[in-house]
Amino acid sequence: MRLDEKVAVITGAASGIGLETANRFIREGAIVAACDCNEDALGEAGKRLGKQYHIYKMDVTKHDNVKKTIDKIVSDLKKIDILINNAGITKDNFLVNMPESDFDAVINVNLKGVYNTTKAVVPYMIEKGGGAILNASSVVGIYGNVGQTNYAASKAGIIGMTKAWAKEFARYKIRVNAVAPGFIKTPMTKKVPQKVIDYMDSKTPLGRMGESVEIADAYLFLASDEASFITGQVLGVDGGLVI
Ligand code: NAP
Repeated sequence: MRLDEKVAVITGAASGIGLETANRFIREGAIVAACDCNEDALGEAGKRLGKQYHIYKMDVTKHDNVKKTIDKIVSDLKKIDILINNAGITKDNFLVNMPESDFDAVINVNLKGVYNTTKAVVPYMIEKGGGAILNASSVVGIYGNVGQTNYAASKAGIIGMTKAWAKEFARYKIRVNAVAPGFIKTPMTKKVPQKVIDYMDSKTPLGRMGESVEIADAYLFLASDEASFITGQVLGVDGGLVI
C-alpha cells in the first residue's frame, strides 16, 4: 500500500497508460480522480475498477472546464496529492503536409493541457503542503522522429516545463518529474503499421514494445515517498531505445 489514502488526479485515465496507472495506483491504496474527455470509456473502466475510481469528464484543452473540474475533485475528495498529466494525442504527418489545425490540436492537448491542469492543481498542493506531479513526455521529445513535428515539439516542451516547475515549486515541497516512454502497446500505437513496429523492436535493445503497466510502475515509484529526493528528472522507460 505505497499510496494509501493518497488522492491522484490522472488525465487521459480512460485508456492505455492512464487507465493502467489508475488500476496500479488503486491496488496501492490510492483514490483516483479519473479525468478524460471520453465519458463512455470512463464509464466502462469504472465498472471494472470500482469505487476508488472516481469519474470526471474533463477536456484538458478547456481552461475553464479544467478549473471547474479540479475544484469539484477537491470538493469531493478533499485534497490532491498526485497529478499525472497523461492525456495525449498524435496527428502524424510530414511537415509539408501537416495542416496548421493538426499542429495546433496536438500542442493544445499535449502541452497546453498540461499547463491548464497543473495551474488548476498546484494551488491546492501548496495549501496542503506538498505533492508530486508527473508529466508524460516521450522518447520523441528527446531524439525527435520523422512525421512527428507537432508531437516532438509538445513532448520536448513537457521536459522544459517539468524542469521549470521542479525549480519553481520546490519551495512548496512539490516534486515534478517526467516519464519518457518508448514504444508502448496501447490504443495510441494500434494505428502504427506493423513494419514500423518491427523496425522499432529491432532498434530497441530489449527487443520488444513495452506494456502499459511498465509505465504505470515508473509513475508509481516517482509518485511514492521512495522518490522523495527526486525532482526535475526525465525517466526513460524505453527498453534502452535512447542509449
Ligand atoms: P491512449 O490510449 O490514446 O489514451 C489517451 C487518453 O487521453 C484517451 O482516453 C483519450 O481520449 C484521452 N484524451 C485525448 N484528448 C484529451 C483531452 N483533450 N482531454 C482529456 N483527455 C483526452 O494513449 P496512451 O498510449 O495511453 O498515451 C498516454 C500518454 O503517454 C500520452 O501523453 C502519450 O503521448 C504518452 N506516450 C505514449 C507512448 C506509447 O507508445 N503509447 C509513448 C510515449 C508517450 P480519446 O480516446 O477520446 O481520444
